[in-house]
Amino acid sequence: MPVNFCPLSAHLGMAERRLRKAGVDSPRLSAELLLAKILDKDRLWVITHLDTHLNSSQASAFSRWVGCRATGVPIAYLLESKEFFGLEFAVTSDVLIPRPETEVLLEAASTLWPSDENLSFVDVGTGSGAIGVGMAHTFPNSRGVLTDLSLRALHVAQRNVAAHHLDSRLSFICSDLLSAFGPRSMQAVLSNPPYVSSVAYWKMSFEIRHFEPVQALWSGVHGTEVHVKLLRQAKRTLQSGGWICLEIAPDQADALQECLAENWPRDWTEVSIVQDWAGRDRVLRARRV
Ligand code: GLN
Repeated sequence: MPVNFCPLSAHLGMAERRLRKAGVDSPRLSAELLLAKILDKDRLWVITHLDTHLNSSQASAFSRWVGCRATGVPIAYLLESKEFFGLEFAVTSDVLIPRPETEVLLEAASTLWPSDENLSFVDVGTGSGAIGVGMAHTFPNSRGVLTDLSLRALHVAQRNVAAHHLDSRLSFICSDLLSAFGPRSMQAVLSNPPYVSSVAYWKMSFEIRHFEPVQALWSGVHGTEVHVKLLRQAKRTLQSGGWICLEIAPDQADALQECLAENWPRDWTEVSIVQDWAGRDRVLRARRV
């Protein structure tokens, strides 16, 4: 195979300059991760083998991928993988890339039951399956249903559930929120629903708006539309004493707490907000009476 005469350090330097010029965040890191993927190694290997040479097909693949990254394609979509909650998830552009703030939702849920609870839960709008898989890890005796309106997203979730060997405990339903569930059928409803308002959506980065699925992000003019619909449906789906845990935007906590108090004061109790590591309101929890 013909050898390209530049060492990795030179390829990385060129890629970094190209990405920086395109305005990409952390250009060096992106370049190292893409090169590691092409070489089927990890990033540590790349940074400790800077005088290795690429062959020409590796060099042209690297240049192509750096070109994609320079147009704004998120690094997770190029790597087809994202770490979340200490676990590896396959991701495609059919699903939202799991965010670190969603780990707060899993931590907030983890304190609600003993870890050996035979918990029944539903992860609504599962996307990559991150919340469902995270819950199944946290509660090893639990059984969960992962829903999404997008069949393509469910396909990604299914791949992740299989990769984590959770097929016997997690199942899938293509459903608009909780419409497929019977009354009083679940102990827990968890969701990171779309919650970005119209104004906030247009302020989001180019990378998010152009490459991540809008239906996983934007929920309407106010941003709380899907939360409210879910709270209404979950009232029926949850067993008495069951919990709902919803990821929220920090400026939605007051409106959602008021909505619960005004519309369903007798249905929900123990309403609380959990903050993320930056002290921002991030998760709404409420218990079905
Ligand atoms: N936390 C996401 C973001 O700001 C939004 C996720 C959502 O709408 N569920 O990028």
